[in-house]
Amino acid sequence: MGFGGYGLYILISLPALLLGLYAQAKVQGAFNKYSRVRVINGMTGAEVARKVLDTNHLQDVEIEQTKGMLSDHYDPRKKVLRLSQSVYSTPSIAAVGVAAHEAGHAIQHATKYGPLALRSLMVPSVQLGSWLGPIVFMLGILFASDNLAIIGLLLFGATAVFAIITVPVEIDASNRAKAILTSSGIIYQNEFEGVKSVLDAAALTYVAGAVQVISTLLYYALLFFGGRRRN
Ligand SMILES: [Zn+2]
Repeated sequence: MGFGGYGLYILISLPALLLGLYAQAKVQGAFNKYSRVRVINGMTGAEVARKVLDTNHLQDVEIEQTKGMLSDHYDPRKKVLRLSQSVYSTPSIAAVGVAAHEAGHAIQHATKYGPLALRSLMVPSVQLGSWLGPIVFMLGILFASDNLAIIGLLLFGATAVFAIITVPVEIDASNRAKAILTSSGIIYQNEFEGVKSVLDAAALTYVAGAVQVISTLLYYALLFFGGRRRN
């Protein structure tokens, strides 16, 4: 199989890899810096999340503590907002920003925000397609079966669509967080810059994730069409 092999793959995936590393460094940098800056009002991430949820009539959404760094997420099935230990109990700019962002997802869920609903619907097919797609595709290439290769591409394509939809979902949650934090007076004007840099860096990691999946899909497509041209 002389498809340009690994050289082509590295060439296509390098920009995504570099963007991913850059985004990761940005997040860690912003988080390290702003998890040390105390918010003026002294509220912890959990207190801020509670206030944002209650203000939006989401008293039924519970807040729990979860293990791991940056493991914060909202679980729409159980209506539980899980915050990592440092976010939960620290009154820092970073903690407050992350907590409000996660509350933003709960608000998206409650207001039936379209892209989030679509994203949730896609979870089962993505869980299957992300690992089965590449296998089916490679089998298709190996046995020179166009049908099998196309099925593999479609299966993996769902993963790409999912990663792309994730970007507006995440940016929207962060925009809601920024708006709520400032309009409710939870943070002061001079604290906004820190919240913004933490949330923008986090958003960039999702952009990098989408670029990564798209490049892999592009590589598969090149393998497929490149292989066909030769036949
Ligand atoms: Zn999020």
